[in-house]
Amino acid sequence: MHFSNLVKLELTDNECIHCSICVKVCPRANIKLEEKPIIADTCEQCFGCVHHCITHVLKTNMDKVVKDILIHIYPYHK
Ligand code: SF4
Ligand code: SF4
Repeated sequence: MHFSNLVKLELTDNECIHCSICVKVCPRANIKLEEKPIIADTCEQCFGCVHHCITHVLKTNMDKVVKDILIHIYPYHK
């Protein structure tokens, strides 16, 4: 599996102010705005929506992916 396929979008508990920036910057029309953004399954992991969301509603699971890879590479390192 390619590394980029492991990285997913997640939502935080932060308040969405419905500015629609994430919808406008998405090159794949992959985000629909309801109470919070609804992320469909055509994401190309450009993370423009994460970068531009001023209230940090959107984030990636990059920290967990990196941690899992490090554990895989260095299984005895805690
Ligand atoms: S990461 Fe890029 S392609 Fe995926 S939903 Fe966000 S803006 Fe769209
Ligand atoms: S950019 Fe952030 S605050 Fe604006 S609509 Fe999208 S998720 Fe909500």
